[in-house]
Amino acid sequence: MGLKLFNTLSHSVQEFVARDPGRREACLYCCGPTVYDYAHIGNWRTFIFGDLVRRYLEFKGYAVRHVMNITDVDDKIIRRVRETGLPLREFTARFEGAFFEDLKTLNCRMPGQTPRATEHIPQIIALIEKLTAHGLAYRAPDGSVYFSIEKYRGGGRRYGQLVKLNFDELRVGERVRSDEYAKEAVGDFALWKARVAEDGEVFWPSPWGEGRPGWHIECSAMSMELLGPSFDMHIGGEDLMFPHHEDEIAQSEGAGVQPPGQPFVRYWLHAAHLLVEGKKMSKSLGNFFTLRDLLAKGFTGREIRFLLLGAHYRETFNFTLENLQGARAALLRLDQCLTKLREVAGNLKAPAAPGLVSQFAAALDDDLNVSGGWGAVFDWVRQTNRRLDENTLEAAEAGAALAAWETLDTILGVGAPGEVEAPAEIAALLDARQAARKAKDFKRADAFRQELKAKGWIIEDTPKGARLKKL
Ligand SMILES: [Zn+2]
Repeated sequence: MGLKLFNTLSHSVQEFVARDPGRREACLYCCGPTVYDYAHIGNWRTFIFGDLVRRYLEFKGYAVRHVMNITDVDDKIIRRVRETGLPLREFTARFEGAFFEDLKTLNCRMPGQTPRATEHIPQIIALIEKLTAHGLAYRAPDGSVYFSIEKYRGGGRRYGQLVKLNFDELRVGERVRSDEYAKEAVGDFALWKARVAEDGEVFWPSPWGEGRPGWHIECSAMSMELLGPSFDMHIGGEDLMFPHHEDEIAQSEGAGVQPPGQPFVRYWLHAAHLLVEGKKMSKSLGNFFTLRDLLAKGFTGREIRFLLLGAHYRETFNFTLENLQGARAALLRLDQCLTKLREVAGNLKAPAAPGLVSQFAAALDDDLNVSGGWGAVFDWVRQTNRRLDENTLEAAEAGAALAAWETLDTILGVGAPGEVEAPAEIAALLDARQAARKAKDFKRADAFRQELKAKGWIIEDTPKGARLKKL
């Protein structure tokens, strides 16, 4: 069955067909982090969604070329560089490193390429030169270069493909230098920003004088450099639809580098906003969380990933700490079922049972309906538990069920609890439990098991002995 997706470009659900179906290759660009601070959970919802799309395409047999840019120069970064007094690279390296660490904590597959804007200045300049040559970009008296929306539209092209914009209010010649301009404000946007005193040492030479690139042009330049002028899929948060993605389309298609009839990007996917405790996340409301804030509260990357993967990507999702506790409980249910299945299956390996995998895939084929997919998983857990309780599950069936789960987990990535080494105190509790069991003091052994559970560890009894797993 084919994968159907809501394409923001066509405003409709469409079947995904790769640009070159014969090659079974999918090219995917996700707008990456701006490395001036730690990414917050709203950002993580989008990045985990990008990871789900990539994993699902891989499950469907596509070789995925996954690119995620690192925005390592922009208005906010320059402000922070000025405040901290650090050189640009030193400042951004810290948050870039933290981003990759967080990506790992959340078990996201590493994108194939993670280009930095500052390492693509020649490609950015070449793209602006093309736009200038086509008469779509002009140098303003301050030395900055702007994209002319009027000229672009005058050439018969559409600005406002993803969102509806009110052009009656467009004031010709109005220029926006800021990377993040107000919603609905249609104006000529900066491609190249002339150096100003506040930029300090952050500048590059260009045909238009010293300066730095705008934010939007970097994504056009790097995506086309690495994936070609026309590629399959572009992913971002819904807040990036306008102006960022609209500007990307205008710059990339305005440069006229696509083969005739081919768009810059064929499928645009946008992940909806995230609320925290029912409100828009904000530092002043105290409901602003980075991944690290949640880890400090004792939650694991696995629990956070599970929760952020729970809702359909086009639904606004309300993130609460209570939900996160619920995620912990749901994962525990899943883990207990898997542990029992392993006990029954022993060392027996079997091919994946088809039912669960096909139900799950049918849900995901339907515009990545992951909540429907989870519904199938937890129905399966309930049925499996019943069979386990009745003792009617054969080893071969248990093996097939485990294999089915392992197949799904290549998509979900919530895994079995990580094989992390237990601290000495925890290992000592396991030893004490094993000793009690050996002495047939099962009550005492169970008390140790409970204590371990309270500390976030479960014991898995395997043919090779007892193992500890982190919840
Ligand atoms: Zn971007």
